[in-house]
Amino acid sequence: MTGRVIDGKASAAALREKIAAYTAELTSKHGLQPGLATVLVGSDPASEVYVRNKRKTAEAIGFKSVHVELPADVAQDELLSHVKALSADPSVHGILVQLPLPKHLDENAVLDALDPAKDVDALTPKNAGLLLSGRAHLVSCTPSGVMLLLKEYMGDITGKEALVIGRSLLFGKPAAQLLLAANATVTMAHSRSKDLPGLARRADILVAAIGKPEFVKADWVKPGAVVIDVGINRVETSDGKYKLVGDVDYDAAKEVAGAITPVPGGVGAMTIVCLMHNTLIAACSQNNLPLPTAL
Ligand code: NAP
Repeated sequence: MTGRVIDGKASAAALREKIAAYTAELTSKHGLQPGLATVLVGSDPASEVYVRNKRKTAEAIGFKSVHVELPADVAQDELLSHVKALSADPSVHGILVQLPLPKHLDENAVLDALDPAKDVDALTPKNAGLLLSGRAHLVSCTPSGVMLLLKEYMGDITGKEALVIGRSLLFGKPAAQLLLAANATVTMAHSRSKDLPGLARRADILVAAIGKPEFVKADWVKPGAVVIDVGINRVETSDGKYKLVGDVDYDAAKEVAGAITPVPGGVGAMTIVCLMHNTLIAACSQNNLPLPTAL
């Protein structure tokens, strides 16, 4: 059996169309143009690519895009003053500070300076707490994208066994909360977990967010399970070039899984579009307009 390939690119393109149409209506009916600010510190090549793609997508959708670029040795106070200024700017509805920051900067202080209403990455304690309470409007982009793909490919996941490998604030923790809210039975695993293959073999939904190339093997996958590969790892090929691979041994796992996300073209494609969705939600919420939850 070969598993279905979950086409994140196609799902992302469809969602992007809906967001663009909603934005055009918002602008013409209410004179409201959603604004997304990106803040990039330093010149890490991967971060530069991520930020460029986010800006390009925002502009293509019809958002206002504001960009702040700061040198790698920027002082903490200067970074905080930019974040505070963007938080106070009424034409900016979402703020994304690209992480990780250079080591001398305190990420928590930056998150504390960010208006939670504009926290479109949903990393502030307020938004993390609202997610726990089941009252969040702004939910982390990659976990939201994963839930949309699961809804599309599995429908109702009530009672399914889900394993999330990885417990980061950015992905693992919010993903586990969303799966729980969708009535899955959720297990979280991490670097200290015992018998990861055994835990994985029980999972109807196996989610890998580890950051280790092809770490999850095909014989960990329960036949017919849905495998969601969040990892993005740049590895060198035998001819000295580079390619992106996920955290799952894709070619082998595809033969066992019921459905599986490729890397690239799976989860990653959904992340940017979910960031745009969050910016739209933030813009509506800050202007007391109904939230576009049914996209
Ligand atoms: P992270 O903060 O580094 O967290 C990695 C998690 O993996 C940690 O919880 C860690 O456990 C766990 N882990 C590490 N080694 C392990 C092992 N041997 N066995 C079991 N668990 C292990 O990473 P992240 O930010 O969540 O990102 C994870 C991956 O997803 C990366 O490849 C990243 O590039 C990718 N990512 C992709 C997107 C996207 O849009 N597709 C978005 C975000 C992240 P401990 O907590 O015990 O250390």
